[in-house]
Amino acid sequence: MNATWRQRAACRGIDPDIFYPASDEEAEEAKAICASCPVHQLCLEHALAHRERDGVWGGLTERERRRVLRQRRKSA
Ligand code: SF4
Repeated sequence: MNATWRQRAACRGIDPDIFYPASDEEAEEAKAICASCPVHQLCLEHALAHRERDGVWGGLTERERRRVLRQRRKSA
């Protein structure tokens, strides 16, 4: 795994529980951090490539990532 982008992650040192909200509605705090993260695109692509199931990655919840994968399959 390429750990370089993780070292620049805005969520480093932040309580990881924030990134595993119980519902999409509770994901706003994590999304706000991701929005200012310099590596959010790399983080999102990592999550999509590895089919990360849980948590907020790259500013998207699990449900939102599934939607992105569906859209990419359609346009492939
Ligand atoms: S995009 Fe969000 S989850 Fe990903 S590294 Fe940045 S702050 Fe962390």
